[in-house]
Amino acid sequence: MQYTRLAQAYQRLEETSARLKLIEVLAELFGETPKPLLRKVVYLCQGKIAPDFAGVEIGLAEKLAARSVAEAAGAAEDRVQSLLRRRGDLGTVAEELLAERGTRRSHLTVQEVFDHLEAIAQASGKGAQTQKISSLADLLRRATPLEARYLVRTVTGKLRLGVGDASILDALAEVYAGGRANRAPLERAYNICSDLGLVAETLVRGGVAAVEGMEVRPGHPVRPMLAQRLATSEEILAKLGGVCAAEYKYDGERVQAHRLDGKVVLFSRRLENITEQFPDAVELLQHGLRPKRAILEAEIVAVDPESGELRPFQELMQRRRKYGIEEAARRIPVGLFCFDLLYGEGGDLTRRPYLDRRRALERAVRTGDRLQLATWKLVRSVEELDAFFEQAVADGCEGVLCKSVAEDAVYQAGARGWLWIKHKREYRTELQDTLDLVVVGAFYGRGRRSGTYGALLVAAYDPSEDTFRTFCKVGSGFSDEDLAHLPHRLRPYQVDHRPPRVDSKLEPDVWFHPAVVLEVVGAEITLSPTHTVAWGRLKEGAGLALRFPRFTGRYRDDKRPEDATTVEEIWELYQRARHRAVRVGEREG
Ligand code: ATP
Repeated sequence: MQYTRLAQAYQRLEETSARLKLIEVLAELFGETPKPLLRKVVYLCQGKIAPDFAGVEIGLAEKLAARSVAEAAGAAEDRVQSLLRRRGDLGTVAEELLAERGTRRSHLTVQEVFDHLEAIAQASGKGAQTQKISSLADLLRRATPLEARYLVRTVTGKLRLGVGDASILDALAEVYAGGRANRAPLERAYNICSDLGLVAETLVRGGVAAVEGMEVRPGHPVRPMLAQRLATSEEILAKLGGVCAAEYKYDGERVQAHRLDGKVVLFSRRLENITEQFPDAVELLQHGLRPKRAILEAEIVAVDPESGELRPFQELMQRRRKYGIEEAARRIPVGLFCFDLLYGEGGDLTRRPYLDRRRALERAVRTGDRLQLATWKLVRSVEELDAFFEQAVADGCEGVLCKSVAEDAVYQAGARGWLWIKHKREYRTELQDTLDLVVVGAFYGRGRRSGTYGALLVAAYDPSEDTFRTFCKVGSGFSDEDLAHLPHRLRPYQVDHRPPRVDSKLEPDVWFHPAVVLEVVGAEITLSPTHTVAWGRLKEGAGLALRFPRFTGRYRDDKRPEDATTVEEIWELYQRARHRAVRVGEREG
């Protein structure tokens, strides 16, 4: 397969702002891809050569890639740099310079490109830089201008096509599973292995049945199971059939620990490898985990080195750093509260009910001071659940997580279902729960805020259509420091037209690819003619919006944009608030 075919697809993807068109272009491409190449083509459409968790970065710095461009185009480096300053994108510069050499046919194949990219990623040690530069120059010399545009963007990690994982799954289902309606098994497989290339390969080799048979495997992070929220013990017990396992909800960072080949690897909530950050947690698990192969989930919490008491989340955040890790580990030690086991002695446990997994977890962990199991209790009444909740809060937790003990209470990777329901302190004190919203645009500031943004346009996620729908403009809650940094922080995601996955009636001054997630609180949810969350659902020509939104100061870097609050959650919050208002009205009336 020629690389030109891929470059043409990239160009069409880049030019569209309609999601269905994205899927159509991808489906056409996947349909034409020879089966043995599909895995690689899928990675390349994500701008990668391996799944994220593998930690393979092509990431050649722009400065170095500019040298390859100069070398391949026979141009002076100064000229490349000055064009780069004007165009702002090295891919465009490469395209322009190569076009000056006159048009030519390319014979680059996808396989060759992939091999080169792998070599660039793997080069290390002495002479690696020179090797990377010349490897890219070699590709560029043989490329057409259009191919050069995308080769450079891929190598520098800037291939932003606006293609989400869900669109790739849709396109795969369209071509190889009999239509988009059959996406579910592919999605489940992706949720448990986090590797789109592997799902694609399994699908073309063994069909949907092979994909359905895929199991979790240590080393491949599993998309976390998430919780719904409810405000009272009555509602929770009603929803869970009158009985549930209530667990403390610790306020720390979720971690998924994988043990294989004598090693422990830690993944964050968004499946990034965070092993280096927590050498102390790794050590606790090396000694405390019995099975040689395992996947365990726990909340990492900062603990007071003297008293052993739980410390607030903000302290744990100081452990997120690149340097001085040992010293930080001494200053802010952590403890682990384990709450699930996804893989253990019996292999894949995700299809087993909660109580089985909890028992397996108890057998698997040798507990100690800093390695504990989440405190839990089987509760059958509102009084019991209320008392347990009070105890959790008194012990320094955010609230409780109530888990279904039904026979079908499996581990639902990547889903926010009703098998887990969270209940936090905020819901009781009438304080609003926080929402995690994605920045999709910005409006320029005036006066004191000139030079930065006056407000950000933020959106909730709609997984059913893989779309981000706007929910409010948020301008308050930002410190001067936040404001000063915002343009810099958001610049990498800036695009010149509405990204295809964004649904907005407003036209902000700048658009962004959905990437940055902010924690926001607001006073209430109301009907709105401008925002597109739940558009037309309650009333024609109206969606939902958050009134008086305020940034809490917490960037949710632990969440991918697809992990943001969903449209469905907002809809439910809105419905519940309406019912409450009606109930209060009835009582008062
Ligand atoms: P939040 O922002 O409230 O932490 P979230 O969107 O990150 O929520 P939820 O599914 O709503 O995730 O809440 C579950 C989170 O609570 C988990 O991701 C985990 O980090 C944390 N947690 C703490 N204790 C437990 C527990 N015992 N069982 C499961 N999750 C727990």
